[in-house]
Amino acid sequence: MVCVRGGSQARQPRRVVGLVSVGLALALVVVTGCVTGTSVGDRIGVAVTIPPLQEFVQRVGGDLVDVTVIVSQGDPHESRLTSGQVKAVAEAEMYAKVGSGIEFELLQLDDLLETNKDIVLVDCSEGVELIPMDGEHNGESGSPDPHIWMSPPNAAIMVRNICDGLVRLDPENRDYYLANRDTYIQELEDLDGRIRQSLAGVSKRTFMVYHPSLGYFAAEYGLTMLSVEEGGKEPTGDLTRTIEQAKENDITVVFTSPLSDPRPAEVIASAIRGEVRYIDPLAADYISNMRAFLDTLLEALE
Ligand SMILES: [Zn+2]
Repeated sequence: MVCVRGGSQARQPRRVVGLVSVGLALALVVVTGCVTGTSVGDRIGVAVTIPPLQEFVQRVGGDLVDVTVIVSQGDPHESRLTSGQVKAVAEAEMYAKVGSGIEFELLQLDDLLETNKDIVLVDCSEGVELIPMDGEHNGESGSPDPHIWMSPPNAAIMVRNICDGLVRLDPENRDYYLANRDTYIQELEDLDGRIRQSLAGVSKRTFMVYHPSLGYFAAEYGLTMLSVEEGGKEPTGDLTRTIEQAKENDITVVFTSPLSDPRPAEVIASAIRGEVRYIDPLAADYISNMRAFLDTLLEALE
C-alpha cells in the first residue's frame, strides 16, 4: 500500500482546532497503517467564495495552505450548492468570505457552514467601509455594493483579515504569515501608487461598465462609474438613455465582464462608435488583472 501525503514541507505541530482530525487520522493510521487524503495532510485547507480571494489566501499562507474556490465559475450573485462545494467546506479548516453582501454568501453560506461546525470563519470585509450599490439608479434597498475587492486599499484590509484568521488557526507559524502578508501588501500598495500616479494627470474621469463592479475603485480614485445594469440588474428597457449618457460623457469604451451578456455593451459601443473592452472582476490573478485593467482604463480615458 502506498501512502499519499499532501505537501512536501512538514508543518510544525500546531493548534487545538485540529486535534479532532488529528485523532481521526491516528485512528486511521492504526487501522490501515496509512495516512491518506487531504484532510489530514500537512496544509491548512481554506475555502474561499470567489477567485480573487484565492490569491489573497495563497500569498499569505504560502506552502502551508491549500485553497479551494467555492464559486469558481458562474455568477456569484446567484449560485446553487453543489456536492463539490459541500465536500470542500467539510474538509476545510477555514472559510474566508467576502462579507459584503454577495448573493451566494447571503443565500447559501449558512447552510454550507452547517456542515462544518469547527471551521474558522473569516469575514474579509471587516474594517472595509461599505458604499451603497450603484447609488444613482438604485431605488430599492440601501444594500451595499458587494464588490469591495476591486479597490486595492480594500484588498489590503481583506488580506490583513485573512492573515489574522490564519494566525488564529496556526499561531506557531505567525511570523511566516506576517512576513508573507507584508510582502503582498507592499505589492498592493505599489499597485495603488501606480494607479494614483497614472490617473493624476487625466482630466476625463468618467467611464462606463456593463456590470457595476467598479464602484469602490471609482470612489477610491476620484472617478465616476456609469453602469449599464441598473442596481446590479440587467437593463429592462431599451438602451437609449444609457447611450445618451455615454455620449454626454464622451465615453469611447464600454467595459463588460466575460460573464455578462456581451450584446448590450456591443449595442452601446456601436451607437457611440466606441469599443467594448473586458474587465473580469473575478479573475484569480488579482494584481496582474488590476494592472491590465488600469492600462485599458487609461486608454478609455484618453
Ligand atoms: Zn458583481
